[in-house]
Amino acid sequence: MRLVQAMVGRETPFTHPVTVGRAPVKWGIRRQPSWEWLNQMCTRLYFAGRRNLPITETLAAAAMAVLLVGLGAARTAFAQESPAAEYDLVIRGGQVVDGTGNPWFTGDVAVRGDRIARVERKVAGRGKREIDASGLVVAPGFIDMHSHSDTLLLEDGRAESKIRQGVTTEILGEGSSAGPLVGKQSPRTVLVAGQPQTWQTLGEYYQVLEQSQTSVNVASYCGLDNIWQAVMGQSHERPTTDQIAAMKEHLAGAMDDGAMGLSTMLAMPPGSLATTDELVELSRVVAERGGIYSTHNRNEGTEVLAAIREAIEIGERAGVPVDIIHVKIADQKLWGRMSEIVALIEAARARGVNVQTNVYPYTRGNNNLASIIPPWAHEGGKGALVARLRSPEDRARMKRDIRSGIDGWYNHFTAVGGDWSRMLVSGNGPWEGLTMDRVIALKTKDQSPDSPHSADSLDVLFDLLIEADGSIPTVYAHHTEEDMRLALVQPWCSIGSDGSAYAIEGPLRRGNPHPRNFGTFPRVLGHYVRETKVLRLEDAVRKMTSLNAAKLGIADRGVLRAGAFADVAIFDPATVIDRSTYTAPFAYNDGIEYVMVNGQVVLEKGKHTGAKPGRVIRRGVE
Ligand SMILES: [Zn+2]
Repeated sequence: MRLVQAMVGRETPFTHPVTVGRAPVKWGIRRQPSWEWLNQMCTRLYFAGRRNLPITETLAAAAMAVLLVGLGAARTAFAQESPAAEYDLVIRGGQVVDGTGNPWFTGDVAVRGDRIARVERKVAGRGKREIDASGLVVAPGFIDMHSHSDTLLLEDGRAESKIRQGVTTEILGEGSSAGPLVGKQSPRTVLVAGQPQTWQTLGEYYQVLEQSQTSVNVASYCGLDNIWQAVMGQSHERPTTDQIAAMKEHLAGAMDDGAMGLSTMLAMPPGSLATTDELVELSRVVAERGGIYSTHNRNEGTEVLAAIREAIEIGERAGVPVDIIHVKIADQKLWGRMSEIVALIEAARARGVNVQTNVYPYTRGNNNLASIIPPWAHEGGKGALVARLRSPEDRARMKRDIRSGIDGWYNHFTAVGGDWSRMLVSGNGPWEGLTMDRVIALKTKDQSPDSPHSADSLDVLFDLLIEADGSIPTVYAHHTEEDMRLALVQPWCSIGSDGSAYAIEGPLRRGNPHPRNFGTFPRVLGHYVRETKVLRLEDAVRKMTSLNAAKLGIADRGVLRAGAFADVAIFDPATVIDRSTYTAPFAYNDGIEYVMVNGQVVLEKGKHTGAKPGRVIRRGVE
């Protein structure tokens, strides 16, 4: 009996080559008696014989020993003895791009539990699992600086279109965020795995997310719209001092729940209602708590330079770091002037104001046809907007304002020169995937020439918005490659997709979404690094990893170094590329091979494993 127990107690690692991906991976365990152990057993048998044990037991033990000696000899003939696995995972021989911007080196990355244990040219000691990464780049998992996956992650926590880009962390929030939904705002209820889940605060949203589980890590800002509407509802009234104080309290609550800072979208109500002074006052709440201010500018068109100045002023007066979301020049009248934005930011930085930007690597933006409707018509919310769209007097006023503009209002219609072919319907519905010139042609083809509407395409727009209850997501071709590239190469400009976690199958295949939802990060690596050499590989990876972590103050992600969380993206630098296009968006990418989140493999040989090891990242907690 003692012999059998002794044998069961001895397990040593066994290396068994299995092809995973492009190279053999060694893993697994098997029992293998060592010579030292067999010697011990023979000694025990000898003494058992000397103690005059019953003959049957002695014979049985002797037979077992002979068997084991034979087995041991046979096994050692083809298996090397090796020490116990020291790591859970070792990624061998990859081109390590560690996220800092330093030049790549060939090396190994060892993972134990949810953390990176070692990053070295040669890691001694074996992993329970090993991945041969020769020919592949091993980088920190990408941090998507600007994401809209808030509720999609509750529909499908696998976050397919993000994981398949190498994204391991999503930063949520723009004008609005998942929480707080308090005061005059209604709580949010969504079905998670068939069960209704309701939340009000950002902290409660985080709990729902943790319960439902995600493949990606998640962090969020507190959206200005949330705290504004918590106090003001749908009104466009000026807030009183007390009302601003109430907004500050809601913001402080969200910051204490772990928000990364305040995010705003100032081009549309309610964000557009906030003055610079009010934004400075709110941002002070964020500055006191070590957060950042992240903003979609008040105006990305003809007033873009003034809007950049406003963002800098808020940073300077509130003493808060600023990240300008998807910096761009989205009106053809100002195309080619990105160098002036760069100069403004450089000058601010030179005098000690920490202003930075992010960008997505496309020249078309995603917004809504409702953004063509002037701000005054949005007061009271969607129901009020639709009522005004039905009123002949209001329609006449809207047409005048859309065509001649309102001071300070960014108008998507004039930004693209009133060219309907530069607007592509991206939302779910009967017109998805069609440019607006075609939609208008289809809508008016049976109209008689004396119909009151046929003369004016804006009437078709108003009717479409009424049919769609005031919202039609749309892609606008409104900025240039030259301006986008000049922003992209700035050392303080990082990558954010402005996209959500969709999928090419199932319920999350819907609408005709912007390709950035699927291809942002592989596009930077394939098109802007390999094909056009706009960026060095190491700089591109830094813009996707440590730069975003540093902006947010996330200490242990965005770099490959011992002690950091084991968020890893492994890709083939020779083949990585986006496949999603404006007209055929539902396509994943080439060349993204493996993705690990908190030490667990989520993408393997380009396939999602179903693992959901993602965590909520609360400001100041990790
Ligand atoms: Zn935006």
